[in-house]
Amino acid sequence: MRILVVEDDPVSRKLLQKTLEGWGYEIITAENGQKALDIIMNENLKFVVADWMMPVMDGLTLCRMLRSSKDKGYVYFIMLTGKDKKEDIIEGLKAGVDDYVVKPFDRSELQVRVRAGERILTLEKELTAKNESLQRLNVKLEELVRLDTLTGAGNRLSFYETIEKTHHRACRYAYGYGIIMCDIDNFKLYNDTYGHLAGDNILRRVADSIKSSIRMSDDVFRYGGEEMVITLPDQDMKTTLTVAEKIRDGIESMGIEHRGTAIGILTISCGVAAFDMEKLENKWEDILENADKALYRAKSTGKNRVCS
Ligand SMILES: [Mg+2]
Repeated sequence: MRILVVEDDPVSRKLLQKTLEGWGYEIITAENGQKALDIIMNENLKFVVADWMMPVMDGLTLCRMLRSSKDKGYVYFIMLTGKDKKEDIIEGLKAGVDDYVVKPFDRSELQVRVRAGERILTLEKELTAKNESLQRLNVKLEELVRLDTLTGAGNRLSFYETIEKTHHRACRYAYGYGIIMCDIDNFKLYNDTYGHLAGDNILRRVADSIKSSIRMSDDVFRYGGEEMVITLPDQDMKTTLTVAEKIRDGIESMGIEHRGTAIGILTISCGVAAFDMEKLENKWEDILENADKALYRAKSTGKNRVCS
């Protein structure tokens, strides 16, 4: 461990340096508080043994300055001084000194106190590392909490967050946006015929196919069992319809066998709605409801189609 020795008297400085080096520490020296401060900031030092009375900047001021700057992490500070009155000690502690050794120092006392500081710094380092790893885990959890684990699409929570933001932005800047609701045709029958594992696989493939049909700025979410919803910022009805048709066609083109449909392959139906900038009073819930109604119409008029 590296320790910064701050002492204006050259003889004392040398003695302290030799003593600490003898215990296996790497020593850097400074002859006043100002120089010490520069070294601490530049070299990321965590351990200081400083004299109190020094020219330019004394040890007490150095300690206060270290305590007021939060960005360098914790610096362990031992004050080494001839001042040994109770008031002095209290003043030092108030400034944030961790420990106190009276000059001329007793070797074994100094050693015990330096070892204690080393232990605290080691613990602090471990704690910081653990905190950082917890923060990384938290970020990961934040992501997971918004993901549908089966399809890798967003889940309902993240849909609500996204649509809120999209709608807010659309109202504020008079942009449009589109919503597509998709539903796999006769999916219950698919599960009954091919089993639930095959059904799960279909959900993943459908989600992947949708992802490949949309832009980077669009998002796909699993809304319900076999229902997916897509948000398309900056789109109007016409362009949203085009995307929906592309998605529908993409699924049909995969040619997945489904004996429960008229054409013998797996298809989806889509309902499309778009936010109309002339009707700013509309809520996103209204747009979603329109998309849902359109989906219902697509289903009731023969499936494998897009309705708006
Ligand atoms: Mg001095």
